[in-house]
Amino acid sequence: MYPSYIEPVFRPPSEWKSLILQVTNGCSWNRCTFCEMYTADQKAFRPKPQGDIEQELKAVSHSGMPVDRVFLADGDAMTLSFRRLEAILAAINHYLPDVQRISSYCLPRNLKNKTVAELTQLREMGLSLMYVGCESGDDEVLQRVQKGETWDSSLVALEKIRQAGMKSSVMILNGLGGSQLSEQHALHSARLMNAAQPEYLSTLVVSFPLGMERFQQGFEEGFEPLDQQGLFNEMEILLEHLTLNKTIFRSDHASNYLILKGVLGRDKAALLDKVRMAIRQPERIALREEWQRGL
Ligand code: SF4
Repeated sequence: MYPSYIEPVFRPPSEWKSLILQVTNGCSWNRCTFCEMYTADQKAFRPKPQGDIEQELKAVSHSGMPVDRVFLADGDAMTLSFRRLEAILAAINHYLPDVQRISSYCLPRNLKNKTVAELTQLREMGLSLMYVGCESGDDEVLQRVQKGETWDSSLVALEKIRQAGMKSSVMILNGLGGSQLSEQHALHSARLMNAAQPEYLSTLVVSFPLGMERFQQGFEEGFEPLDQQGLFNEMEILLEHLTLNKTIFRSDHASNYLILKGVLGRDKAALLDKVRMAIRQPERIALREEWQRGL
């Protein structure tokens, strides 16, 4: 049956209508201490052979299923070389000529060995949106959670994406530094976003469905998770310091207590009002109950 998947498979919420094409399995980094997405044995990192990808695309094409968007999975498809990505995009265009948009998760380090000219060529072949899990703009937080990236490396990648004419959708993790690093996490994340001006920005609340043991190891003095008020306070600092020109902002993932949506800067004051009301007069605002948070 095609496409064939090695489960579990993850995709950004906005890719729910897309064909998920698993061109790699797992994540070649797989060390971030907050991430359990690809820790199962069957998810050891491996690129899928080109022949298998073409077979799957052929089968999808013959099925007559209309496809106008494709998401390249898993967590690290952009680690593939320029040549391999070029061959995959050529195959997508050949078998699914109606495709309008191809997207992928992208780690900043994935772009180190790709030039802007190469990325531009990939964009011309349809790869136009990169989901970049920056998680934080604070180097101490990034180091403690073993992201393997820094404020600088994240910005270099986001600028390269822009120079190639692609769009970026950035994720920041609310609560990632716990109470100890909350303020610097918010301030430096805002500074990174202001420098990068991504087209999309979303925040998720960090959560540990499989336990916190691995995560705790990065915080020798103990990690203190933020409570609901702490998460809102951190969001207030982040929003206050964002000076974005035209970024679609979403904080509506199931992990969030408070749903925030708007365009920044246009809606900054309204979004801040909502966060401040959640902090000071929570009885006047609809918050998700614990059981409504899809963790
Ligand atoms: S880089 Fe992404 S997919 Fe890989 S371990 Fe970190 S958060 Fe998970």
